[in-house]
Amino acid sequence: MKNPCYCDTIDNQYRENNGIPLGYCGNCEVCGKPGHTQHFPGAVPYTGSWCDDCLKTVARHYKLKAFVIPLLLVLLLVIAPITGILWRQVQ
Ligand SMILES: [Zn+2]
Ligand SMILES: [Zn+2]
Repeated sequence: MKNPCYCDTIDNQYRENNGIPLGYCGNCEVCGKPGHTQHFPGAVPYTGSWCDDCLKTVARHYKLKAFVIPLLLVLLLVIAPITGILWRQVQ
């Protein structure tokens, strides 16, 4: 599924003013190549411009973070009581 972008809503004058080539609606904020302005590929209220390559990278990094952070929280929830029990046994 392709992310909806602003290609249909911006006009050529806007493209000209911002140096955006035809067929694109933004310049990539990572590498500066022509890309598309769209909503962040994840559950973050953020809109930016990315080229197709960087969008994939950004989305992959987000998914990695979205996976690692809950994992760390679960580990913390599991480890904290265990260390608490051990600590009480030591004392
Ligand atoms: Zn676009
Ligand atoms: Zn890029």
